Amino acid sequence: MSDTKTIWDGALVELEVGVSKANFNTWFKNTFVSKQEKGVVYLCVPNAFVKDWLSTKYHTNILRALRNISPSIRSVEYTITKSVTQETKEVVVTEDKIFNEQLSLQDLEVNHNDGINPKYTFDNFIVGSFNELVYAASQAVVKNPGMTYNPLFIYGGTGLGKTHLLQAIGNQVKKTNPNKKIYYLTSEKFTIEYIDALQNNKTHLFKEKYRRYDLFIMDDIQFVSGKNKTQEELFHLFNSLYENNKQIIFSSDKPPKYIGQLEERLRSRFEGGMIVDVSKPDFESRFAILKNKLSSAQFNVPDETLEFVASIIQDNIRELEGALNSIICQSQLKKRDLSLQEIKQLIKNNIRPQKIVSIKDVIKTVAEFYSVEEKALYEKTRRKEIVKPRQIIMYILREDLSASYPHIGQKLGGRDHTTVIHACEKIKRDIKDNSILNQEIDQIKNILYNNQQKTFSI
Ligand code: ADP
Ligand code: MG
Repeated sequence: MSDTKTIWDGALVELEVGVSKANFNTWFKNTFVSKQEKGVVYLCVPNAFVKDWLSTKYHTNILRALRNISPSIRSVEYTITKSVTQETKEVVVTEDKIFNEQLSLQDLEVNHNDGINPKYTFDNFIVGSFNELVYAASQAVVKNPGMTYNPLFIYGGTGLGKTHLLQAIGNQVKKTNPNKKIYYLTSEKFTIEYIDALQNNKTHLFKEKYRRYDLFIMDDIQFVSGKNKTQEELFHLFNSLYENNKQIIFSSDKPPKYIGQLEERLRSRFEGGMIVDVSKPDFESRFAILKNKLSSAQFNVPDETLEFVASIIQDNIRELEGALNSIICQSQLKKRDLSLQEIKQLIKNNIRPQKIVSIKDVIKTVAEFYSVEEKALYEKTRRKEIVKPRQIIMYILREDLSASYPHIGQKLGGRDHTTVIHACEKIKRDIKDNSILNQEIDQIKNILYNNQQKTFSI
């Protein structure tokens, strides 16, 4: 027993080096090796999500790390072991505690000299397939500010982590290069300051101030749209910083070419470096984000609840956090776990109702639409009248809910992820030249997204 523990502890040390702290805590906490037999290591994990994630994303790393410790190891088997899930932590709830919890959600700690908030770091930033690229680009900038991607232009919808990333870059550069002068601000703040400087005849001071920075970060650049004077000033500032190899980073809710009323010369500057987007998080990442937030909350919420929240809040990480915070606050007040009904109610208050569709909703709606028994969809049967709805379910779960292939397979009777990929590809191909199928899927989506109240169930 102690032997297996030594092996896994050794492997964990190596694995920890290769992943961010947040990802490490989320995926590797509560894992252990139960036995090693004939070159096979049996790795126990707390739930199906961790299993999916480790076996698809980290398998090679895990195997490599294990073999470095013990070269005779040939493979890893992942098993779900309920007993390793965390015990509910005892909490004494006081009004104070709830108040503090809420306070910590606000940006109270911004450093006024550089605009950086220490709470946004890479340590608490979850990396998944949806933001891998933007994370890698940010890391490259941190390692070589001004040298690799200049400017770095990050775009994506609201609540997807742009500000978090920009701030994390600032925090990291601050830590590794304490001599570098860093500044973060939004384009709105820049505009206000500039107008103020103009009105008070202080533009020379304004220019001087901004040209000093080694790392200049401007969030939400889309708001310079239509502001000609600000754009002109920004253009000159950009050139000055750029010529001196200073790192410039922008974020926006859309790519440069779609920002309206933007001077052409500024647009071409934005496009001159590296442009990367943050997309919507997939199911596993949403779950991981919730798990990670929870780990700093000193409070336990059952995995099933997190799964439910992650399955219906898909578009916005801020909403995901909001829902979790409400759940924590309510559970603390009531001194118990919340019922599903209570959680649904809380979530409804938190997000736009038309977005509430869960995996179960999709399965149920499609089953009803084709008049097949839900149960049959989970079974092994290959009857045509079952295969088609099953493939459509897989397709909708993938396209609309961004669920991962392994997770979809698991939800539909434990099918292999390659089967799911095949199904999604097939439906994608078929709807191109089968207008009836196309219409059917449209109708299903109509029912799914318009009949929220009726179909909303877990
Ligand atoms: P945006 O600037 O794109 O609107 P934010 O950076 O403000 O989004 O993110 C919204 C919230 O979600 C923040 O509280 C942030 O900490 C959190 N968040 C976003 N992305 C991640 C992530 N990948 N891992 C952990 N938390 C995240
Ligand atoms: Mg933002």
